[in-house]
Amino acid sequence: MTHSLRVIPPIHELLQQDKLLEIKDDYHLSDASLKRGVQKVTESLRTLILKEEIQLNSREEAIQHIIEQTIVWIHEYYSFKLKPVINATGTVLHTNLGRARIAESALMHMVEVGRHYSTLEFDETKGERGSRHSIVEEYLKELTGAEAAMVVNNNAASVYMILSAFAKGKEAIVSRGELVEIGGSFRVSSIMEESGTILKEVGTTNKTHLNDYKQVINDNTNMIMKVHTSNFHMIGFTESVEREELSHLAKQHNLICYEDLGSGMVYDLTQHGIGQEPLVKQVIESGVDLVSFSGDKLLGGPQVGVIAGKKQYINQLKKHQLARVLRVDKLSYAALEETLRLLLRAEYKSLEIPTVRDVTISKEELKDRVLNFLKRTNEIFNNVKFAGVDLESKVGGGTLPEVVLPSYGLVLKVEKVTINHLMYKLRGMEMPVIARVENNQIIFDFRTISHEEEDILIKQLVVLDDSL
Ligand SMILES: *Cc1c(COP(=O)(O)O)cnc(C)c1O
Repeated sequence: MTHSLRVIPPIHELLQQDKLLEIKDDYHLSDASLKRGVQKVTESLRTLILKEEIQLNSREEAIQHIIEQTIVWIHEYYSFKLKPVINATGTVLHTNLGRARIAESALMHMVEVGRHYSTLEFDETKGERGSRHSIVEEYLKELTGAEAAMVVNNNAASVYMILSAFAKGKEAIVSRGELVEIGGSFRVSSIMEESGTILKEVGTTNKTHLNDYKQVINDNTNMIMKVHTSNFHMIGFTESVEREELSHLAKQHNLICYEDLGSGMVYDLTQHGIGQEPLVKQVIESGVDLVSFSGDKLLGGPQVGVIAGKKQYINQLKKHQLARVLRVDKLSYAALEETLRLLLRAEYKSLEIPTVRDVTISKEELKDRVLNFLKRTNEIFNNVKFAGVDLESKVGGGTLPEVVLPSYGLVLKVEKVTINHLMYKLRGMEMPVIARVENNQIIFDFRTISHEEEDILIKQLVVLDDSL
């Protein structure tokens, strides 16, 4: 058996093959990277031969095989792992698909800030060192009504930092009904433990009264924490204590009242009849000392955690060692700065934020786009068939779980191909298409497909149609 391995030439000989040298030029590879590819391929060839899963009779055959496989390997290895996709699921804040899309003008700002040096920590009027905290603080103050604000890496980091700074070795009271787990990776109780906070659970899963909080306050209590139960919606006999009462109780006992808002609504969706969330501004008005929320959920910006609230606390946080550990990158600041500018200006500017636009777009508008899509593609497919369909989409990202958005889209119909195989083909496209399966049908919900993506979708579907 081992003598069959002898058909594989030594690496240094393979590297002299004209065909491989051509590939090296085509892909602009270094000697080392070509070698890495050839080594990987010969290693797996060796395994295949030893397992008798391949039979190569001559050196020429082996060389041919190695050349072909090296091309495949290099192509895959040097293609992006982080690819743009078409989200046809209708879920606007899809955690696995990168949550919020960034507004076009925010992307432009990121490019400029990334291309040049920037005023990240420089005050150009004074010509001296500045603070990155001042980039977005005024905008955040205006949008939230808070005395002060700052940003950290993400909202999980906000929670961790606030607890570490104000409740380490102390007790923080949380209602049992709010000890949520988000997406299996963020559990409030675990973060509390990690931060050294002593968790004082009160009430039951469905009922917590003000008195439950009162009873457990002692000398070692430092915080009352409220967590937005954003990834599930409790129905039935539930009762939670109003934040006004909680912040009042906190004040009486000299405790910090902190609310982790999760998504945090800054753009008012209730004006479109969507959900019943309070605005971040209203939460601050109710007397809560600190709030935190994500930048890439309803805010529609980059991954950051926003912390807003009383100046004395924010100042302490800015000086905390963790501020350096959890600090935000300039590109995220750039995206955030422009996203906030859009939110602060006229309504039509806010609607340039993809998340805001996609959540608020009406079913009628979506239906118009779908009917137009059907008109455009009426004659061009042979095997792929479409039909318009009424849908319901979700906001996603653990946000507004009770909200159903009436939507419109397409059912994809292809005979003689299984749903699984079609989904696989859609995912394998140059820009992968992530569809949704409902009632044993493949659905494209147009809520999360942008105008520009429609054109890409059509081009790719033509290729799919030909391949069937
Ligand atoms: C999403 C969420 C978090 C985590 O925020 P990230 O930005 O994902 O780090 C924390 N708390 C609540 C209530 C959330 O909904």
